[in-house]
Formats: sequence, structure tokens, C-alpha cells
Amino acid sequence: MTSTPDTHAAPSSISPWPALHPTAQAAYNQILWNRGLAKADIARRLGVSRTRMTAVGRELEVAGLVVTAGRETSSTRGRPGDTLVAAPNSYHFLGIHVRGRQLVAAVIDLENRVVWEAEATVPELGAKVLFEHCSRWLSDARSAGFRVAAIAFCGSFQQLDDTPLGVDLRKVIGEDDRARFSKQMGGPVWVEDEMVALTAFEQWPRLGEGQDSMALIAVGPQIGFGIVTDRRIVVGAHRMAGRFAHVPVAPDGPPCPLGHRGCLWSVSSVSSILAQASDAATLAEVVERAESEPSIGLILAAAARGLGAVVGHIANLIDPDKVVLAGEARYLLQGRDEDFRAGLSAVSLGAEPLVETTDFGFVEWANAAAALALYRTLGGDRT
Ligand SMILES: [Zn+2]
Repeated sequence: MTSTPDTHAAPSSISPWPALHPTAQAAYNQILWNRGLAKADIARRLGVSRTRMTAVGRELEVAGLVVTAGRETSSTRGRPGDTLVAAPNSYHFLGIHVRGRQLVAAVIDLENRVVWEAEATVPELGAKVLFEHCSRWLSDARSAGFRVAAIAFCGSFQQLDDTPLGVDLRKVIGEDDRARFSKQMGGPVWVEDEMVALTAFEQWPRLGEGQDSMALIAVGPQIGFGIVTDRRIVVGAHRMAGRFAHVPVAPDGPPCPLGHRGCLWSVSSVSSILAQASDAATLAEVVERAESEPSIGLILAAAARGLGAVVGHIANLIDPDKVVLAGEARYLLQGRDEDFRAGLSAVSLGAEPLVETTDFGFVEWANAAAALALYRTLGGDRT
């Protein structure tokens, strides 16, 4: 299916998501997540009458969000012609990940597939230059036939990599800047912590049936945490949840810049590992040197144990169905599963969660930002 050209909006403006009745939005989400559903199934899931469901189906079809399909296109029950399937290209979402002066953009469709990407390095970091890039990318994406319903900028709310200490994305794009740009673009522009975005991205495909909680740990120069309970991302009263990188995990560990000794950051962050390994340039170099230098091997073993310990603390606190380790964790833990397990067992007081590792690159962070825009749109957020 191709996108419907949008003739009403300017080249660099958002095509807002249609204003749906909450029941219609909920029905749409079910259709999308289940890759098509019979109307009878949707009515049962939402507790609405068949008559009401007929009206809801019509509302979604008129909005261009779903098409009616026969039995052969869906795994669900129902008469041919009674199944609604989401049109994945009816709207798109633009995500921009900010890492220092490096920007990566991705446009996704409604099934969270990246359909367009771009990147740029800006001479200096500021709201004006970020919005200029964003406007240009939105215009390019529209020319390529994508209808962007919302935009999200994501980056660290603790400290952007490669910036002076204390520079976070909210200092670069203030709330007034964001609100002004959103108005100018004619639709939602959000600025969010990259961990919240990553958690939104990981949550849907990774929480299986019957699972409703998850913790995500992204290991890089800094260590970020994302938490999902009852299938909702925990952001906190001050949008500051997940500050867990400085929890003590090793009494004999090295000091960290905040003055702790043996906190998670001090043993398991890539910044600290590089510093401990005589200022190595990359984690790959450290991993390679560990093969022949026992002292380097000990640094990595301590890092793996530290990650195990923090997973144990999370398990004790929220008892999640699973913990997903992202960023450079996979690399760090390769061949060090015993150290990781030892760290976990030493702390965990109950059931140990399922632990998964995942690869994550620059485009995936931008994809996560776009996924956040999708997530908030489906959740009925229009601000
Ligand atoms: Zn610390």
C-alpha cells in the first residue's frame, strides 16, 4: 500500500493523527498489535456491543487507519470481510536521537519499521539548529511520501555523551522551545529521555503474553535504566525515574566522579572500564587485551559481576518478568556469564528474572525515539 498524499499541510508540517473517540483508539491499538482482528473479537476485548463495534469500524475506515480484509489475511476467526487490518503506511513517526553534536533521524511506519533515515553532525548544540535539521528532515520525509503524525527528540536526561558534565537534552531544548516548535509544526513534538524511548521501543515486541513488567539496562559511557510495570513505562513524578547507575555493587571497587567507591558506574560503565584499562580507546580493545592480560580480565569480570548485582537489586525491588541488557552489555558479558550470575545470586533474594541481551546501534536509538512518538500517539497523547 502507498501513502495517501497529504495536500492540506505545508511541506515542513506535521499531519496530525485523527481525533478518534477513545473506544475507536483502543480498538485500533488492538487491531495493530494483533496484526488484524475480527470485529467480534475486538468487541469482546473492549466490552462493547456488536452495533457499537460496527460504528467504531466505520470511524477507523473513514480515518484511513484500517481496511476490511477477508479470512485469508488474518489468523483470527470471523467471516470473510469481517476482519479489520491496520494500514501500516497511513501515518509515520519521526524520531531524532541527539548524542553530543551527532544527530540521527529515523521515520517509522505504524508497525515500527524504519522506512527512512538520515544523519548529521551539527557545529554546535542548540534548539535552533536542532529544529532547523528537524524541519528539513520532515520536509524530505514528506516529499518521499511519508505522513508524519508526531516527532520525538530523544537523548540523555542525565548527561549527553561527549558534552561537558551536566548538559542534558532538556538544557538544549527547553520546554518553551519545544512548545513553540510544536505549534509551528502543527502537531506534537516531544522531548524525552532516551531510556524512556528505548523502553517504549523494547516493550511491545519483548513482553509476551502474560508478561507485564520489564527492566531495561543500557550500558555505554553512562548506564541508563528503563522500567515497565503493569505494561506502563515508569517515568516518575519529576520524569527522573531510573537513576540507578550509582547504586553500590562492589565494596572494593574504584571511585567514581561523584565520590562513591564501587558503585555500578565505577565498575560497569564503559567510561570507567576504559579509564581503568590504562585509558584504552574502545571496549573492543579492552576485550581483546583481556585475552592475554589477566589484570584486564579482572576489570571485565568485575564489570560483569556489577551488572549481575544491579539486576539482583532490580529483581528484589520490582520482580520483573524480564530484564533486557542493551548497548554494550552483550559485548561486556561475552564469556563472563559465570561472573554475571555470581553477582546476581549474591544480591537476589527471590526469583531471578529472565535476562536477555540485545544489540543496539545509532539507528536503533533514532528508531526508539520514533517508537516513543508512536507509543504516545496510540496512548492518546496530543500535546
Ligand atoms: Zn558513583
